[in-house]
Amino acid sequence: MAQQILVTLDGTVHDPDVPFLHADDLAAVRGDGVFETLLIRSGSTRRVDAHLDRLARSAAMMDLPEPDRDAWQMAIEVAEKEWSAVGGDGEAWLRLVYSRGRESAPEAGPTAYLVAGAVAERARRARSEGLSVMMLDRGYSTDLAGQAPWQLLGAKSLSYATNMAALRHAEHQGFDDVIYLSSEGAVLEGPRSTVITVTGKSLATPPPETGILPGTTQRAVFDLAEQEGWATATKTLRRADLLGADSVWLVSSVTLAARVHSLNRHVLPTSTADDEFVDLVDRAICVD
Ligand code: PLP
Repeated sequence: MAQQILVTLDGTVHDPDVPFLHADDLAAVRGDGVFETLLIRSGSTRRVDAHLDRLARSAAMMDLPEPDRDAWQMAIEVAEKEWSAVGGDGEAWLRLVYSRGRESAPEAGPTAYLVAGAVAERARRARSEGLSVMMLDRGYSTDLAGQAPWQLLGAKSLSYATNMAALRHAEHQGFDDVIYLSSEGAVLEGPRSTVITVTGKSLATPPPETGILPGTTQRAVFDLAEQEGWATATKTLRRADLLGADSVWLVSSVTLAARVHSLNRHVLPTSTADDEFVDLVDRAICVD
């Protein structure tokens, strides 16, 4: 079994192979909680503040108690050190999990823990080889987030079953990943990534108001790009915008930049600027 690190919010390190959650934890029985996934690279966890901001935002959207930021920060440091201590000199993903706690003991409050493990081969391959992507209808309008806040669109909730189902659906048909479209045909996001198009020195990404997760990687990339003279736009993108761009990327905290090499089997051209974008993402996640 692959080496993992398990730490609770009080900084205690646990044996990851010993059963840990109560059977009635609302994370397990309802997916009722929030999470974050961060990257540990060269011994340090990237973009901690941005992820803790989003954890707090997601928790607020679900009426969970405000996460204890200092405690999370300290627990992240414990996990980071543990990862180095077990010889994890390579990159790791670090997942923060914050659930509503036990169904039978609401007074006990939320369950909060962190798990780290080695970055999967799948992510490394996506970085080096890119992805074949299938566009899938998400089945709802870009208005839904505002009209039905209980749908929790834009929160990083633990209820990722439909995202995993979309990825399996794509995989069964020979694709690596998915880009969701709204019922109007607007480009939304990947089930675990944000879409960015590159055209010359311009970057574009869909607006979070359309019910997508505001990506920490996308934000970091846009901030650095703007400082370095790129134009950036957060705007509605359509299928034609993807096909007309110099390149299309799925970005996320662990995989970082994965180039979409084909979209619904239509091969997208490679660009001499691809390395430049990868370099921009690599540098952006070093800025805190
Ligand atoms: N959108 C969704 C649905 C995600 O699950 C993720 C990350 O897992 C992202 C976007 C990218 O977010 P980040 O760059 O903060 O990892």
